[in-house]
Amino acid sequence: MGYLIKAVSSSKNFRAFAVECKEVVETVRKLQGLSPVASAALGRALAGVALLSGDLKIGKVLLQINGGGPLGEILAEGNWEGYLRGTVRNPEVYLKPENKKLPVGKAVGKKGYISVVKDLGLKEVYQSSTQLVSGEIAEDLAYYLTVSEQIPSAVSLGVLVDTDGSILAAGGFLIQKLPEASEEEVQNLEEKIKKLPYITQLLSQGYTPEKILAEIFEDIRILEKRPLTYQCACNLERVKGMLIALGKKELEDILKEGKSLEVICNFCREIYLIDIKTIEDLLNFIKKR
Ligand SMILES: [Zn+2]
Repeated sequence: MGYLIKAVSSSKNFRAFAVECKEVVETVRKLQGLSPVASAALGRALAGVALLSGDLKIGKVLLQINGGGPLGEILAEGNWEGYLRGTVRNPEVYLKPENKKLPVGKAVGKKGYISVVKDLGLKEVYQSSTQLVSGEIAEDLAYYLTVSEQIPSAVSLGVLVDTDGSILAAGGFLIQKLPEASEEEVQNLEEKIKKLPYITQLLSQGYTPEKILAEIFEDIRILEKRPLTYQCACNLERVKGMLIALGKKELEDILKEGKSLEVICNFCREIYLIDIKTIEDLLNFIKKR
């Protein structure tokens, strides 16, 4: 099981989040048969959404990345309890490493958007997006946070994939400037972050989230530690709700085929068998509305 930490610098001028989520990424890789570059891209998105979820007291946050590259749309969701799930449209896309690195930016593409949807269980959900900068995800997320949420942020995300495709390391950190931080403090911090080894290198050397933040800050106070697990929120009721949302015509067409329906969850590959009687009931429900 991985975990997330939330922390604040002793000067209270920066806040920081860090995650280790190797097991989460390995779980999704096995569930969805992800190629190495798909593991790296979705793994970074999952680490990113885990960092964003660090602030939630309730509800969930969804990260949507659509850069027009061969992987197609990437979705990653995290909630306040540390449950993560994610999916990528084309999990089997294979791209050769370039300079010994998986070409995530190329696989994701950069002609498109990164969107964040926050659902805090209120009437309205909060949604905002910015254009992709590189498709490498960490840079895109930092740009989104700095521009759209107007909190100057540094983000680092990394997934290390073994030659057999299994996940050796996954995680990342997010540092955000608080209003009291001076220009000088920001510059010092930027220098420190620049001098850090790659995040995958730190994680594969066994650096914990606490130890990673200690590399950046001389003195930091951990406010919270939260376990992270891959868990899907799908269930039969939600599948029925989705079928209702398809509408009358679609359900009538399904009935005409006269066969029960197999619905597979994109996130966890759970199979839901919907028999004819259930489809008839859903259709009657729509007609009565
Ligand atoms: Zn599911």
